[in-house]
Amino acid sequence: MRPRIRREEIRMDAWLSTAGADVALMDDFNAICAFGGRLSGSGQDTAAIAWALERMRATGGTVRKVQVPYDGWRAGRAALHLLCGEPRALACRALLRSASTPADGLVGEVLDLGQGRVEDFERAGDAVRGKIVLVRHEYPFSPTHLHRRRKYDQAVARGAIGFLIANPLPGRGVLSGSSGRPRGAAGIPAAYIDFEAGQALAAAAASGRCEVRLLLTGEELENSLADLAILDIPGGTDSRIVISAHMDGHDLGTSALDNATGVAVALAAARALAPRISARTHGLRVCFFTAEEWALAGSARYLDDMDPAERATLKLNINLDTVAGDSVLTALISEYPALAPFVSAAAVDAEMSVGTYLPFMSNSDHANFARHGIPALRLTAGFDRPDSNVNNILAAGDVPGVIDAADLRNALRATCAMAWRGLTLPQGELDALAAGSRWTTSA
Ligand SMILES: [Zn+2]
Repeated sequence: MRPRIRREEIRMDAWLSTAGADVALMDDFNAICAFGGRLSGSGQDTAAIAWALERMRATGGTVRKVQVPYDGWRAGRAALHLLCGEPRALACRALLRSASTPADGLVGEVLDLGQGRVEDFERAGDAVRGKIVLVRHEYPFSPTHLHRRRKYDQAVARGAIGFLIANPLPGRGVLSGSSGRPRGAAGIPAAYIDFEAGQALAAAAASGRCEVRLLLTGEELENSLADLAILDIPGGTDSRIVISAHMDGHDLGTSALDNATGVAVALAAARALAPRISARTHGLRVCFFTAEEWALAGSARYLDDMDPAERATLKLNINLDTVAGDSVLTALISEYPALAPFVSAAAVDAEMSVGTYLPFMSNSDHANFARHGIPALRLTAGFDRPDSNVNNILAAGDVPGVIDAADLRNALRATCAMAWRGLTLPQGELDALAAGSRWTTSA
């Protein structure tokens, strides 16, 4: 017989008000950044996961390393030359898993599609065919954001021969990101360019036919494995509350915002929660994924390969991704409407405010939990605040100096409050977090 949890009996929410005070939080955060940007396949990701496994062992519970295959790839050369007007070299960087150009480059006419939204592609119609399209990157956390991969997919579908995506912020250099192209799939050469290169190309294209030469090479890495770190602390039921964060990143900066913040907060939350897990609470699982920046490949494989009976025990995913860099926290609740009151109640427990945003955003590992019918949210800082420090993500500016420790501590308090509320919900209420969601009603 399963123990019955009565939340009223074990509420000890007073500890939540000081849950942000973890003494190791900033040391952990700086230690993670010190590994470098932790690009999957660089070795920095595996070293950081090995470190995290040790940190997890200090927390107690069962710790294991899981390895999952993903489509590894290494960038080679990247060069872009303007061939019209005043010919010159422009800054560029291949998207992860970009298709390669011929060895002597790809010459094509540039078509400026502005933001590169669906309507921009529709307006251009057949004019896209055979062109190298130019679009703009958007601040990724907003209600109107269209993901880079959706823009890339439209370019491929409409017959473009190349894809250039410009940083919208001047003086910030190029960005990093994935094309999402699976191994063996058709694709086109695709690269980030800096704001200034975008301006130069737009001006040249506006003044008439403008050609560029794009050279991108990359190498497939066979048999690539992504290391994941999993901590499991059983409670009095089979149910698990899952806190997750991705360890991997990009190598322009040190992936401090995205996502040393999430990993450091998850570790500190585990330390705070572990001694409170008992026969009267549910169990806790902490997952550190890699290959997240590779179209969420690590968590996808972890969940897809899991025994369905085990997967059914995962009742709530709290995914921490870019949880500092701004003082405003938002939970992206993946079209699980019951998570809105849940998050609000947890915020009250922690005497703070956390916003919620219902539409599904497939921009981190919570998306894979959501698809499997597991109520999932992404806690993120700076939602719809493009002028916040969060706008350094994917750029060379993603370094520890852009993070305010107070924001990180707030995120820790919010995480502890949400996890604790989940850990102590009566079984029926925990199961009901999935109610009313399109992910569970259509199944
Ligand atoms: Zn991230």
